[in-house]
Amino acid sequence: MRGRGIVVMNFKSRMLLLVMLLTVFSISLFASEIIYLDNEHIQEYHGVQGKWYQVSAKNQLNALMTRHEVQLEDVLRVNSAAQVRHLIGSYVFIPYSEKCLKELEEKGMGRKALECRDDQFIWPLADVSVLTSVFGLRWGEIHPGLDMPVPRGTIVRAAKDGRVIASGYAGGYGREVVIEHRNNFITRYAHNSVNFVKVGDLVRKGQAIALVGTTGRSTGPHLHFEIRLNEIPLDPLDFLPENPALQVNEHRLKNWR
Ligand SMILES: [Zn+2]
Repeated sequence: MRGRGIVVMNFKSRMLLLVMLLTVFSISLFASEIIYLDNEHIQEYHGVQGKWYQVSAKNQLNALMTRHEVQLEDVLRVNSAAQVRHLIGSYVFIPYSEKCLKELEEKGMGRKALECRDDQFIWPLADVSVLTSVFGLRWGEIHPGLDMPVPRGTIVRAAKDGRVIASGYAGGYGREVVIEHRNNFITRYAHNSVNFVKVGDLVRKGQAIALVGTTGRSTGPHLHFEIRLNEIPLDPLDFLPENPALQVNEHRLKNWR
């Protein structure tokens, strides 16, 4: 009886060990996460859900707070502002009350959840079907990213979790956001009309960081997107998920290369 007991225990321990090893193995290889893609109705800032607005007057701010059912201190806190006058004349993030969020989700305006590997970059725009320039030589010089033509005002999302290391105007790039990620990767989002995030902000994959524009050296509204490793630009198409919508433009991609 005793011997049998040991055998049973050994078997159980072995199975437990096997399960543990498999878990560790799968976590290290396929660590996945659920992310939420900000849309035009619900966006995130500093871990709070709300929406960005251009606020030009105090009564407009009051009306927005009433609509979102939040207090002034909630707005000041998330925007890191000491006083109301610091908010007027700029883009302000207005959080939603729990009730407002629930209502939006019931109306089908909620953010889309996406399961992806935690080391995987995502496309910085919701729908990209055309690339006007790909990575590589263009007119005798290196084009270090992808150009995605979309309407002005389209939401630009962080391609991966990270920390904002630049947000401002940078010559030919126009208004840009640069985010640093783990393992010496950075991503750049250029030619924006508006930047929401500030230097030092921690951002989550899928979070709205800017709006598309045509600032800097640009001939029309588009997002210029770069992925760099140790400052060296890499082809974002090697890192972004497969995008079936791009296939129809394959001939175009070949011509550009
Ligand atoms: Zn470009």
